[in-house]
Amino acid sequence: SKVQTSQKGLQRSMRGIATLLSLVLLSSISSTYANPLKVVQRISDSLQSKPRSREELKLGIAGFYDRSSKLWEEVWGEHMHHGYYVPANRTDHKQAQVDLIDEVLKWAGVEESGSRRPTKVVDVGCGIGGSSRHIARKYGATANGVTLSPYQAMRGNQLAQQQGLANRASFQVADALDMPFPSSSFDLVWSLESGEHMPDKKRFVDELFRVSMPNGRIIIVTWCHRDLSPNETSLTKKELNLLNKINRAYYLPEWCSVDDYVKILEEKGATDVKTEDWSWVIAPFWKAVIVSSLRPGSIWGLLKSGFSTQRGAYAMLLMLRGFDMGLIKFGLITCTKPK
Ligand code: SAH
Repeated sequence: SKVQTSQKGLQRSMRGIATLLSLVLLSSISSTYANPLKVVQRISDSLQSKPRSREELKLGIAGFYDRSSKLWEEVWGEHMHHGYYVPANRTDHKQAQVDLIDEVLKWAGVEESGSRRPTKVVDVGCGIGGSSRHIARKYGATANGVTLSPYQAMRGNQLAQQQGLANRASFQVADALDMPFPSSSFDLVWSLESGEHMPDKKRFVDELFRVSMPNGRIIIVTWCHRDLSPNETSLTKKELNLLNKINRAYYLPEWCSVDDYVKILEEKGATDVKTEDWSWVIAPFWKAVIVSSLRPGSIWGLLKSGFSTQRGAYAMLLMLRGFDMGLIKFGLITCTKPK
């Protein structure tokens, strides 16, 4: 109950910070425009619109990351994902992000040494390649990353060069739903916070399986909606409404639950299927992102970065609300491809 009380306190303070941030953010965003009300209206209108088509989504994702990755890297470094907050009060956020990778690998039972350690890794939805380079270094493996964003692929390769990993980590623009790799190519298939962008989860899992070697390990860490209870057939209207707004801001298609992933994996005959909800592990992250966005440098960066990044910043508040109401889950899913 002590944990619950402190969780509640944390949620309250997150809400407080969220409100504060929305005011600061909106006023800072609006100062770049003549009429503040117009900007608020513009963000709010744009979050109401209809879902995007597949093609619009793909172009949107590429453009969104082309435009926002530089700012993210300046503020947060090379990892574009949540941090590992155990204990909850840790303050080295970049280290927390690296730890998340290590803790997920440990959770999934990936061996650190010996003949079963990973040697060939694919990083599906790789951002600027933070996971790939970390994993390549950690296991002495080679890594191939795919992203829809040409900027990210270029930057990923540049960083690999700078870090002396050019011969072992490489990045290219490609669609995760149709990867340019032969079947059975990798012994570790890694997808960290990219599954939520995939408009066809079944096809996504099919591709992860296809490029995995038999007996290879597949790890998906992704935003999901809560599992439905047996007497429910869908989320509530209010929940769907919130997700739709987040989808507009972050270029996401319809969401699914961890249960939905498990169903797909079981149909494929996956072995060692294991899942876990780590929402509590990452909870302090959004607070930290929001606090970081209040730094003068970040605000200045945001002002220069254009509408879709600004809207993305605003949508952090919606994410916070989604986690808070138990709608959004930080899902871990792993399995092995059958021999
Ligand atoms: N895994 C990275 C980046 C997460 S951001 C990290 O943790 O640092 C989400 C990434 O998914 C972006 O790089 C985006 O380009 C990629 N992505 C989204 N949809 C994709 C698709 N269909 N094919 C390939 N990459 C995709």
